[in-house]
Amino acid sequence: MGKSKRGKAIKGIVNWRGTCPVCNRPRVKLVWQKGPGKDAIKICKACYGNINRK
Ligand SMILES: [Zn+2]
Repeated sequence: MGKSKRGKAIKGIVNWRGTCPVCNRPRVKLVWQKGPGKDAIKICKACYGNINRK
């Protein structure tokens, strides 16, 4: 983990930058996912941290 979300790794992801559906911040990296499988939505790092911190 960690480095896998940076640099060359994200170049292979289509539309990786956008507005986070959770915090509505524009132009963030949406390379983290919320939810399982194909129902997952792309979210930003901050929201991913919030969800998984508990
Ligand atoms: Zn967010």
